[in-house]
Amino acid sequence: MRTIHSPSAMTAWSQRLRREGVVIGFVPTMGALHEGHRALLRAARLKCDALVVSMFVNPIQFAPTEDLATYPRRLSQDRTICREEGVDVCFEPTPAAMYPKGFQTVVTVPSVARRWEGETRPHHFGGVATVVTKLFGVVRPDVVWFGQKDFQQCAVVRQLVKDLNFNIRLIVRPTVRERDGLAMSSRNAFLSTEERRLAPMLYQALLAAQRAIKTGMADPKTVQAMMRKVLEAQPAIRIDYLAICDPDTLEPLDRIDRQAVILGAIRLGSVRLIDNVLTRRTRGGT
Ligand code: AMP
Repeated sequence: MRTIHSPSAMTAWSQRLRREGVVIGFVPTMGALHEGHRALLRAARLKCDALVVSMFVNPIQFAPTEDLATYPRRLSQDRTICREEGVDVCFEPTPAAMYPKGFQTVVTVPSVARRWEGETRPHHFGGVATVVTKLFGVVRPDVVWFGQKDFQQCAVVRQLVKDLNFNIRLIVRPTVRERDGLAMSSRNAFLSTEERRLAPMLYQALLAAQRAIKTGMADPKTVQAMMRKVLEAQPAIRIDYLAICDPDTLEPLDRIDRQAVILGAIRLGSVRLIDNVLTRRTRGGT
C-alpha cells in the first residue's frame, strides 16, 4: 500500500492506471476508521481493480463553533485498517495542499442541501460538495462508495455528480450498526457512559416510525409525534429534527403514500447523532 500526500502525485498515479484501463475505486473518509468504513472498503475492494481511500478532515465543512480541533485523528491505526482491507493508496493531503493560498471556488447544491443538516449546519454541505468535487478531480475515480448513514450527503453527492458531468458511478452502502442499533460513527467515542446508553433510542424511534408507516399510518405529523414521544421521554436527549421526506428531493411529505426516508438528528451532551431509515407503505391507511 502506498501513502500519497500530494494532490498532483495522486492524479499522476491515477492517470497512469487509467491509461492501462484499470478501474479505480474511491472511498472518501475523514479517517478515524471504524467498522462502517471497513464495510465500504470491503464492498469497494470487490468491485474495482485499484482502490484509493482518502483520509482528510476537511476544515471547510466545519463551522468555527464545531469540533474540527477535536475530531478524532488516528492515522497509523487507519493505515493498518486500510492495509488489512487491501487498499492500494491512502491519499492523505494536508489542508494547505487542498486549499492553498488564493483558493476561491465553492460548490453549492442549494436545493437538496437546504433542509435538515443544512439548516442546523449552514456551512456543512458547501464544504462537503467542494471537497468531494476536488477529491473527484484529484483521484479521478470510476466508482465511489458512500454510506447511507449520511443520507443527505449521498443526495448532495448524487446531484453534483449529475450536474457537473462526472463520469463516476456512485454506490451507497447500508449503515453499519453496533449490536444495540446505534449507527457507527467516529464521534460515538465522545459519548459518556450514560449518553452511550441512550444513544440507540434515535434508531429505535426511527424503527417505530417505520413500523407505523408499514402498518398504514400515512400522516407524517402523527408519525413525527410518535417519534418525539419516544425521544422526549429522556430529558438528556435534545431533538434537532425528525423528518419524513422524499428520498430524492429531501422535501417533507404531506402524506406518506410512496417510498420515504425518515431522517433524525439528536444531541446528547455535546455529541450530535444522525440516522435514517427508508420505508415503503405496504397497506392502505387513513
Ligand atoms: P466520514 O469519515 O464520517 O466522512 O465517513 C466516510 C464515509 O463512511 C461516508 O460515506 C459515510 O457515510 C460512511 N460511513 C460513516 N459511518 C458509517 C456507518 N456506520 N455505516 C456505513 N457507512 C458509514
